[in-house]
Amino acid sequence: MAPDVPTSPATILVVEDEPTIATAVAQRLTAEGWRVEVARDGLSAVDAAARLRPDAVVLDVMLPGIDGLEVTRRIQADHPTPILMLTARDDETDMLVGLGVGADDYMTKPFSMRELVARLKALLRRVERAQHVAVSGPAEPPLVMGDVTIDKAQRRVHRAGEEVHLTPTEFELLVMLASSPKTVLTRERLLAEVWDWVDASGTRTVDSHIKALRRKLGPDLIRTVHGVGYAFEPPQS
Ligand code: CA
Repeated sequence: MAPDVPTSPATILVVEDEPTIATAVAQRLTAEGWRVEVARDGLSAVDAAARLRPDAVVLDVMLPGIDGLEVTRRIQADHPTPILMLTARDDETDMLVGLGVGADDYMTKPFSMRELVARLKALLRRVERAQHVAVSGPAEPPLVMGDVTIDKAQRRVHRAGEEVHLTPTEFELLVMLASSPKTVLTRERLLAEVWDWVDASGTRTVDSHIKALRRKLGPDLIRTVHGVGYAFEPPQS
């Protein structure tokens, strides 16, 4: 993962059992210059991910055999991989995040190819940023607030002495909030800063990731300001 080698095209694994969607997505992503491989069911998706080590996975939830949730678990257990999940409905997205599935972004069908490409580009930029920080970032001292420690150089988070495992997206969202404690950040701002995504249509993604952070770190750290956004509340301990 040397940061100074010329960037080769990203490899994207597309997991979708509906042939027309799979073909259309693969064609569009190939046209963007990415290397694309398609898997049509859950088990071949897990195999393909282990073999390819893709830079990102576009994963339909409803698949024959093992579903997208189980595919995500198995892929993430093998190797941390950015996943953009395709869902059938908005409430399905909330449900999946509540379960802590570990995807980095969600899109509800039907979606536009343009939006898919924009979100994938943002996801790849986020991952690249994370690797760059991990490799060459200055050794900033960890952020310590009460029993919460956020080590930006190591990209590790501890609460009450226990390590908390976050996805790259969850980590960036936490850092963004914790860097301005007690300050309300709007969902639109978080979406723009963390997801590089300017269209406010994705604010549900922010809500979903806040749920994931609360589930992993405890419910007391992030306050909801209804109709506005979220604020980090440093713990007292
Ligand atoms: Ca499907």
